[in-house]
Amino acid sequence: MKIYNTMTRKKEDFVPIRDGKVGIYVCGPTVYDYIHMGNARPMIVFDTLRRYLLYKGYDVNYVSNFTDVDDKIIKRAIEEGVTSSEISERYIEEVMQDMKDLNVMEATTHPKATEEIPDMIAMIETLIEKGHAYEVNGTVYFRTRSFKDYGKLSKKNIDDLEAGHRDEKHALKVSGEGEKEDFLDFVLWKPKKEGEPFWESPWGDGRPGWHLECSVMSKKYIGDIIDIHAGGEDLIFPHHENEIAQSEAANDVEFARYWMHNGFLKIDGEKMSKSLGNFFTIRDIGKKYPLQVIRFFILSAHYRSPLNFADTLVDSSKASLDRILTAVSRLEDALAVATDRDLTEEEKEVKARLAEYVTKYENAMEDDLNTADAISVIFEMVKLTNSSVTADSAKSLVQEAFTTIGKLCDILGIITKVEAEILDSNIEALIEERQAARKAKNFARADEIRDTLAAQGIILEDTREGVKWKRA
Ligand code: AMP
Ligand code: ZN
Repeated sequence: MKIYNTMTRKKEDFVPIRDGKVGIYVCGPTVYDYIHMGNARPMIVFDTLRRYLLYKGYDVNYVSNFTDVDDKIIKRAIEEGVTSSEISERYIEEVMQDMKDLNVMEATTHPKATEEIPDMIAMIETLIEKGHAYEVNGTVYFRTRSFKDYGKLSKKNIDDLEAGHRDEKHALKVSGEGEKEDFLDFVLWKPKKEGEPFWESPWGDGRPGWHLECSVMSKKYIGDIIDIHAGGEDLIFPHHENEIAQSEAANDVEFARYWMHNGFLKIDGEKMSKSLGNFFTIRDIGKKYPLQVIRFFILSAHYRSPLNFADTLVDSSKASLDRILTAVSRLEDALAVATDRDLTEEEKEVKARLAEYVTKYENAMEDDLNTADAISVIFEMVKLTNSSVTADSAKSLVQEAFTTIGKLCDILGIITKVEAEILDSNIEALIEERQAARKAKNFARADEIRDTLAAQGIILEDTREGVKWKRA
């Protein structure tokens, strides 16, 4: 697979560090409110990357944090007269709900910053020992110029950065806040202020800086080197640049092999954001559209392109998705009546074309996760099956078309099945209940269970060794 690496500004072949295993770290949201559609873009895009890597057979360790200590959370807590943790716990739950509704898989680990403070303190200590950090009046700063590669991700030159901020630097000096050795130094630990949450540390009570969280949590849950580090493009500078500086200075190894950044979700040409007030929360948009439509809309564009949000565009995504879902449900109906027989020559050709489309789909995904092209391939398949696969087709062809389209949609996190297939464990539990009902001579209940299972296509067979079952 080729991945566009922000570090090299090139598409590169993806080679994992450990054979068959991929470690992905995606910077997660700050939990002080409901998430909006812009925040959902990285969640959906990188969940799709994860699903595709799983499809290819990789073992994926997917880590995405919750920033649960931050100025915005504290501000919200003060406004509502509750504790910061009440705010963050509440919105972690709400974000998890939105993710579920968007069919975003739960991360392997969702670490919370507040639960990783000891490791953060340990990393700061290492950085101080190595001369990359220093403390002034309870604040610990990273000594930016001590990290010679600073700016390598964002392609910023350290002297230009300094020059661009001469006025600010002067203002800081005048206001007495110029305690840093250098304007470019950033905070690793900040002292507590009245009413703020805090933790004890060798530098006094305080809390960690935002950038540090990700360096520490990715190291703990993935390792010193991670395969893919991802997030929105606004995180390239300073957040990811600072993460690199901290991690590489502390661990002495390359931090991340591939850097992936999604483009902005825009509205009227401007980035959707809380601060501009031009946002729709996932919760609100979910009242208007099934969230599956939003997921499909977001994946209709390449993840690095900007994507404009407008009702008309989402409406047309809804119509497109309906076309796929209708085709799948038509195939499902055909499957129920199609006959088991050998394929005709024509049908063999249709089957071969389906296989070609799978390759074409994979090629699109292999090309830097081009979900836009992958979706076009699904449409080609829908067109082919609508015209060439019917209730009169051989059952194996209908089955092939049905499962193939379903599988390719599933990689995108799009659910095509009207009803989720009943799980084996549920079947066994129902069979046990039926046996118990029969023993208790409750034949009405026993028959009811048999009918329920039959409706799901499960056939029961009473044998001497007990009850056996199979799918119809
Ligand atoms: P935040 O809570 O602001 O740190 O954002 C969480 C994630 O959402 C980050 O990866 C951001 O880059 C991403 N993000 C925020 N706004 C947008 C947007 N309008 N379009 C795409 N990604 C965004
Ligand atoms: Zn981060």
